[in-house]
Amino acid sequence: MANVLQTPIEYLKGVGPQRGETLRKELNIHTYNDLLHYYPFRYVDRSRIHTVSEINPYTQYIQLRGVITGYRTLGEKRQKRLVATFRDNTGEIELVWFKSYDWVMKTYKPNVTYIVFGKPNYFNGVYNIPHPEIEPATEIAESKAMGLQPVYSSTEKCRKKGLDTKGIAKLCRTLISQLSEKDIPEFLPDYILQAYRLCSRYQALQHVHFPPDEKAAHQARRRLKFEELFLLQLQGLLIKKSRQALVKGFVFKSIDNLFQSFYKTHLRFELTNAQKKVLKEIRRDTMSGRQMNRLLQGDVGSGKTIVALMSMLMAAENGYQSCLMSPTEILANQHYENISRMLAGMPVHVALLTGNVKGKARTNILQNLAEGKIHIIIGTHALLEESVKFHQLGMVVIDEQHRFGVAQRARLWEKSATPPHVLVMTATPIPRTLAMTVYADLDVSVIDELPPGRKPVITVHRTDAQRSQVFGFMRSEITKGRQVYVVYPLIEESEAMDLKDLMDGYESITRAFPAPQYQVSIVHGRMRPAVKDYEMQRFLRRETQIMVSTTVIEVGVDVPNASIMVIENAERFGLAQLHQLRGRVGRGADQSYCILMTGNKISEESKQRIQILCSTHDGFKIAEADLKLRGPGDLQGTRQSGTSQLRLADLVADTAALEAARYMAQKITDEDPDLVKPEHLPLRQYLQQNPEHITWSRIS
Ligand code: ADP
Ligand code: MG
Repeated sequence: MANVLQTPIEYLKGVGPQRGETLRKELNIHTYNDLLHYYPFRYVDRSRIHTVSEINPYTQYIQLRGVITGYRTLGEKRQKRLVATFRDNTGEIELVWFKSYDWVMKTYKPNVTYIVFGKPNYFNGVYNIPHPEIEPATEIAESKAMGLQPVYSSTEKCRKKGLDTKGIAKLCRTLISQLSEKDIPEFLPDYILQAYRLCSRYQALQHVHFPPDEKAAHQARRRLKFEELFLLQLQGLLIKKSRQALVKGFVFKSIDNLFQSFYKTHLRFELTNAQKKVLKEIRRDTMSGRQMNRLLQGDVGSGKTIVALMSMLMAAENGYQSCLMSPTEILANQHYENISRMLAGMPVHVALLTGNVKGKARTNILQNLAEGKIHIIIGTHALLEESVKFHQLGMVVIDEQHRFGVAQRARLWEKSATPPHVLVMTATPIPRTLAMTVYADLDVSVIDELPPGRKPVITVHRTDAQRSQVFGFMRSEITKGRQVYVVYPLIEESEAMDLKDLMDGYESITRAFPAPQYQVSIVHGRMRPAVKDYEMQRFLRRETQIMVSTTVIEVGVDVPNASIMVIENAERFGLAQLHQLRGRVGRGADQSYCILMTGNKISEESKQRIQILCSTHDGFKIAEADLKLRGPGDLQGTRQSGTSQLRLADLVADTAALEAARYMAQKITDEDPDLVKPEHLPLRQYLQQNPEHITWSRIS
C-alpha cells in the first residue's frame, strides 16, 4: 500500500524541484511526512482583536482594527522612516516603515478600516508597530484572522525562496487539506487514548499546525509529546526484550578461582556495599545465558574501576578475554598501570594497546591477542581497528561512555560471533528518569556510595582580585607536600585564544612559583603524546608540584596526593564538567580544595551555577540542576542516544508524560512484546512503516 505521506516533497503544490531542494537541504524535509512533523515552535494569537488601550509594556504581538489617519516621514538618511498614525475607538499608535514608503502609502489608504498585526515597541512616549502586517477588514480577512497562527523556524536560504514562516505555513495548509483521516491513522490503542485523554493523531497533527485556540494547541502538543516519549521508550524496551530473548550470551560459570583469590588476597580494601551490589548484578547477568548490556553509573571516585576489573576477572576465569576501552591515552595508561599493579603475582596477562604502541611491540600484542594469550587488553580507540582480533572476546568495558558514540560501541560487538557482555561506565550522573528513557535498552546499575573516609572537597568561588591570596594558599599546601592542579578551559571554537590563556597562565604561575623551589608541569591536547605522558608521569611521581593543563585531565586520572584543584574561567565550564574536574582531588586522606576562579564581573546565572557547586557534592543533584539550567540537549551523550527523536517533548519539563509513557511502554513490552493483540496491530504497523523508530528486524 503506497503511503501518501512518503511522497517526495517537491510534488506538493507550491513546492517544485527548486524549493524541494531547499527544503531538503535546509530543513531536512524530504517527504510529506517530514513536513507534517515540522512543527511550529510557537503561535501568535490572531484569534482576538484587541484595542489600542490594551497595549502594555509586556504585550508581545497584538491584532488591532482601526484606520490610518495620516502619514509623515521623519528623520534623515539611515534614520529615515515613514510613520502612519493608526487609530481605533480607544486611542492612537504609530505604524512605522523603514523602506517601501511609496508602496505602503499607495496600498494602505487613510480612512479605510484595516486589521493590523505586529509587535508593539515603546519609543518617545508612544507605542509603535514596525512593519506591521495589514489587511483590509473585510469579512473574509476577519474570519481568516481567527485562530492561532503558527510560527516556524526557517533559514536565510529558505527565506530567499519564499519559505519564511508564512511560506511554510502555506505549504502545511495545502498538505493538511489534502490529507484525510485514513492517511493519518491512529496507532495508539484506545485504552491509552482514554486513560490519558489524548486526542487522535489526525486531530493532533492538524491542530499542532493550525489550532483554533490555545486549548486545541495544548491538546495537540500534549498528544504528540506523549507519542514521542512513548515510542522512544517502547523502542528501547522492545530492543532490550528481543535481545534478551534472541541473543545468546557467554556463560561465566565459575568464580571460585581467579575471582575469589583476587578478592581474598589481592584486594587491599573492603568493597563498598554499592560495589558489591553492582558486582552481584553483573554476576547474575553473566550467568544468565543472555548477553549483558549494562550501564554503570557512579560518581567520580566511587570506584568503578575495581568493579570493571573484577568483572574482567570473571571472564578470564572462564576462558574469555576482556577489553577495557578508555577515551584518552593518559587514562588508558593509568588503567593499565593500576590494573597491572593490582594483579601483580596473578596468572592474568594484561596488555596495553594505544596509537602509541607501534612496530614489533604492536605486532606481538596483536598476535598474542589473536592466540588468546592476553586475557585483558586495555586501550583507546586503537582497539576498534580492523587489525585487532580476539581469540574469544567475552567482556567489553567502556570507561567514561559519553566520549564514545553508539556506532563505535557497535564495532566492538562485531569482534565476536556471539556478542560479548558489555559494561558501559559513566561518571556523568544522569537523573534516573532520563537514564531510563535515553538508555531504555540498557540495564542501569548505580554506585551510590563513596568509599569510606573521603572528606568532601571544600569548594569556594574566588575572583581575579583575590588571586594573590589563592597563590598564597597554594604555597602553604605545597609546603605540606601536597600537589595542585590548575585547569584552563579549552573550547574547540576558540582554541587559539584558549591556548594563549593557558600559556599566559603557565607563565604567571612559573613566575609566582619559581624553580628550583617549585616545579611546574604543563599538559594540553596539542602536545605530542609522548611529551604529555612524560609531564603526567613527572606529576604522578611528585617531581612537579603544580600541573597546569586543559581539561585533558578531566576524566579518570588518579593522583591521590593532589589536593587542590584551581579552575580558571570556571564560568565557561558546564556544571557536570566542573564536578568531574573536582573529582580529581579528594582521593587521598587529606582535606582537599576546589577553587573556582572567575573574573570580577560575571553574570547572575554564572554566579548561580557556581554556587550550586560550592553547596553540594551530590553528582545527581548537580546533574539535575545542570539539566534545568541548560536543557538535555547539552547533556553529554544524550543527543546521539535517541533524544533527537524528540521534537516537542522535553525530558525535564514533561516528567508526568514521561512517566505515563514509560508505564504504558513497559506494560505493552511485558504483555504483548510481539504486538500481536488486535489493539496493538496499528502500533506494529506504524513501527514497521517508520523504521527510524525501531530496528524491526530484531523483533520479528
Ligand atoms: P571512578 O569511579 O571515578 O573511576 P576509581 O575507580 O578511579 O573511581 O576509584 C577512585 C579511588 O578509590 C581509587 O584510588 C581506588 O583505588 C579507590 N577505591 C575504590 N573502591 C574503594 C573502596 N571500596 N575502598 C577504598 N578505596 C576504594
Ligand atoms: Mg574512572
